[in-house]
Amino acid sequence: MPHFTIEYSANLDARVDMDKVVEVVRKAAVETGIFPLGGIRVRAVRCEHYAIADGTPDFGFLDMVLRLGEGRDLATRKKAGELPKSSDVFQANRDRAAPLLKQLRADGIGHMIDGKIVASISGETFETNSPVDGAVLASVARGNAEDIDRAATAAALAFKAWRDMPATMRKKLLHRVADAIEDRADDIAVLECIDTGQAHRFMAKAALRAAENFRFFADKCTDARDGLNMPSDEHWNVSTRVPIGPVGVITPWNTPFMLSTWKIAPALAAGCTVVHKPAEWSPVTADLLSRLVKQAGVPDGVLNTVHGIGEEAGKALTEHPAIKAIAFVGETSTGAAIMAQGAPSLKRVHFELGGKNPVIVFEDADLDRALDAVVFMIYSLNGERCTSSSRLLIQQGIAEKFIEKLTARVKALKIGHPLDPATEIGPLIHERHLEKVCAYFDVARKDGAVIAVGGKTHDGPGGGHYVQPTLVTGAHANMRVAQEEVFGPFLTVIPFRDENDAIEIANAVQYGLTGYVWTSDMGRALRVADALEAGMIWLNSENVRHLPTPFGGMKSSGIGRDGGDYSFEFYMETKHVSLARGTHKIQRLGIPSS
Ligand code: NAD
Repeated sequence: MPHFTIEYSANLDARVDMDKVVEVVRKAAVETGIFPLGGIRVRAVRCEHYAIADGTPDFGFLDMVLRLGEGRDLATRKKAGELPKSSDVFQANRDRAAPLLKQLRADGIGHMIDGKIVASISGETFETNSPVDGAVLASVARGNAEDIDRAATAAALAFKAWRDMPATMRKKLLHRVADAIEDRADDIAVLECIDTGQAHRFMAKAALRAAENFRFFADKCTDARDGLNMPSDEHWNVSTRVPIGPVGVITPWNTPFMLSTWKIAPALAAGCTVVHKPAEWSPVTADLLSRLVKQAGVPDGVLNTVHGIGEEAGKALTEHPAIKAIAFVGETSTGAAIMAQGAPSLKRVHFELGGKNPVIVFEDADLDRALDAVVFMIYSLNGERCTSSSRLLIQQGIAEKFIEKLTARVKALKIGHPLDPATEIGPLIHERHLEKVCAYFDVARKDGAVIAVGGKTHDGPGGGHYVQPTLVTGAHANMRVAQEEVFGPFLTVIPFRDENDAIEIANAVQYGLTGYVWTSDMGRALRVADALEAGMIWLNSENVRHLPTPFGGMKSSGIGRDGGDYSFEFYMETKHVSLARGTHKIQRLGIPSS
């Protein structure tokens, strides 16, 4: 029997809570496909304790090596009929979603302001519908400037106490938020699927990733204020950082839960209070997040959530004088509007915007791996992802063969109900977005490109906003389908001659978020990475996010960077303090002449 050793890290209670150890083993098994049959040995290789003010042990950090003895890999288990059937998982997902949706319909969604769920002052609401079948999921409070004012005032009042709370305490609370998210991870996954149309296979772990964001920034609370010591002859000069104040976070509808935590977790860790305005097309999990944060014990007013329409609630947030900065994720044109709206109150802005990202495949690449990555990076998450590689730049010599294989893969993609584990492509978020994506079928044809696969809507379960995954060939770099962000399962293929040609085509768009390069020539990989006008480049890899690394785009794809310390640079002000070492000479003015 094979043995597997897995290095696995997890934040666990220092007293070694066995339930959590079992949970970690379960997760390791799911992630690796290796299931323990012959017992589990857990070896702690590192265990640190952090003390908190009252002397009780705080969360420790335990690195474990799990030895999953006599495991069987997924293929063996599948052959032996040991895996649950896809239809059983689909039913289990539906069973999990049903009571949650019933509750949601009954309760509706209110704003979370100063720790209380409240209706809009105007009493106005809007409906949120499922992209699967159009069913009304909930009636949602429609916030306007008055509600934003209440939330911003609550955030301003809560700011001082949150800023001055000992960092160890803030850290503890943010770890509790992560715990609360993990406890509800499966609920969050099914709700997100029904609210956004994303396939469960991609959403299953999204909440765990969100919890990781909170853990990562929780652990950074204690050094968020760190600065530099820059001594000069006559002074000790030090810098420190302080939170900027209450901030606004405005998020889009794609992977809304995870994306919101990218922004909210570092803001809270920095000591800022937050007013969050989630996207109106996907308010469900943002509501849950605000409840989980409260449940974890984060003080009232620290995270406030106001639902509503961008041009109303969103605009009011960007204009509110108590809000010091706006972290925004969304379309480039909205970013430009926000910059103008925030100008009179001198808002600091951080923008993560659109993209038209190239994946460049050279003749000498590992073509099988490149093909996997190309398909994954545009057809996962319904292509509704900012980092999707929506332009395939393929070297001429291999273009025909590569496109042939690509065509077969795109044709085989499984469109279906988002809760079905077999589904690879679910319905698009909204009928307006479906219309936008479908409009590009005509744009492609009109420009003289060829729709090799797809190009039509799809009659999927529930009759929702399904579209066929689409592959466009015969395109040139200056066509609209090679220039504009479609934000759907829509890939445009453009052949290139050589390295310089590839770079020129890749850079000839207004965007500059990510770039992907596939080649076995490392010199070339680095040259191309250097020449690409994009904030993030992956060489021989799909997009794999490592939390300390800078995340953000160039050109029309954004301003500023997220991740690790980069997030603190945005949510904090750097302050310089200078102390005279002794009695240095001070120029004397205004001395009366004798
Ligand atoms: P959007 O710009 O339409 O909306 C985003 C948010 O802004 C929503 O909450 C909306 O209500 C709000 N909003 C709209 N108008 C506003 C205004 N005038 N003032 C204040 N707020 C306003 O974007 P979307 O359609 O929800 O999301 C898709 C876009 O997001 C795509 O372009 C995608 O590339 C981008 N995106 C970028 C990243 C990144 O990291 N670069 C990540 C995810 C999504």
